Amino acid sequence: MEFDIESNISFIEDKINALGQITDQEKPYTRIVFSKEFYDGRSWLNDQFKSLGLSISTDEAGNLVGLLKTNKKTEKLVIMGSHIDTVPSGGRFDGVAGVVSALCVMNHIINNNINLPFDLAVYDYLGEELNDWGTSCIGSRGIGGVLNQEILSRKNTSGLVLSEEIDKIGGNTKLLNNPLPITKNILACLELHIEQGKILEDRKIDIGVVRSIPSISRFSVTVKGQAGHSGTILMNQRSDALVTASEIISFVNKSAIKLSQKSNQHFVATIGKINVHPNSAAIIPGLVEMTIDLRATSKNSRQEFLNILEKKIAFLNDTSSCNINIKDIAFAPFVEMNKDLIQLFKNSASSLGLSNNIMDSGAGHDTAQLSRVVPAGMIFIPCKDGLSHCPEEYAEASDISKGTAVLWKMVEKLAFQNINKT
Ligand SMILES: [Zn+2]
Repeated sequence: MEFDIESNISFIEDKINALGQITDQEKPYTRIVFSKEFYDGRSWLNDQFKSLGLSISTDEAGNLVGLLKTNKKTEKLVIMGSHIDTVPSGGRFDGVAGVVSALCVMNHIINNNINLPFDLAVYDYLGEELNDWGTSCIGSRGIGGVLNQEILSRKNTSGLVLSEEIDKIGGNTKLLNNPLPITKNILACLELHIEQGKILEDRKIDIGVVRSIPSISRFSVTVKGQAGHSGTILMNQRSDALVTASEIISFVNKSAIKLSQKSNQHFVATIGKINVHPNSAAIIPGLVEMTIDLRATSKNSRQEFLNILEKKIAFLNDTSSCNINIKDIAFAPFVEMNKDLIQLFKNSASSLGLSNNIMDSGAGHDTAQLSRVVPAGMIFIPCKDGLSHCPEEYAEASDISKGTAVLWKMVEKLAFQNINKT
């Protein structure tokens, strides 16, 4: 049964708008995991599942699941999903486009009485965005069995324990030590997501088929100088931590530009978080703390960057009057999407006459976590000016509908074509 791109646009638009209304009204669009707005968003999604007649549950990791059971005797399962949580003042499409397109595929299947040879589920993966507990992808990490005791027992700034929040929403964190038993039955996890970059829009391509998700590393850098009176300490007597920090900031940027031009693989480095102490106009900065966020699809480029950064820091420790320390604080390894699913996504898009391209993701996603334990694949659709994680984030409903058609085609191919799964 063909999926009509045109006639599904209004379904998609309505659902995106409805979820967009469920926000911290002061700070649109904000639906932070475990907040009141997040619970409201979940109850909206619960209603959507109910009206489609799906069986609803929350799994051990706190993911909300809407399940369509097959009438065949099988435990096999295909999952379509993304996330409805947002960053503060985020957008209406990051994550949401994937959940809504999954709902739309489900709606298509139910309206057309299509019997699949496997169970099909829509997942809202719990808390994909980086949160106050210093972790992201709570639900998908939980599925993969990598939410360890150290992470689960963390407290956020309000003193709330992560495991207690997951249990409160319906999870069971005692059972998260290993990949969830359900992973044995999963044939494929599929995700549609906005690109959050400009490649598809610039090249006028309908669908980006994701090949890999880069490694993400974070380093904290501390620069110790000496605070002092900005009027009395002469220029040659100073240990200004911010001046030294600024050298590191531009070094990181320039080195990343060079490395990203050297290979055609994705390489980016950013210092987006910085604390200056005491942060006062009349005091020489005595201490700077900042975080480097580094994302790379090439191990070599990552290593090369770390080598030159280490040299630069050693040089500054020798030549400046400040003391610099760098510490590794987080690492998520590079992952490749399932090769069969990549090919199938490409074939699906091409068979619908949609232009498509294989590409690397710049951002981390639930699918990266899932691909460690089950066959997983994802597609990108264009978003306006590449903007994301901001209120201006925008994607055309017609572009989401094209991606949804590809998602349906994937489910159809997995269901009714003889796929060689080797
Ligand atoms: Zn997202």
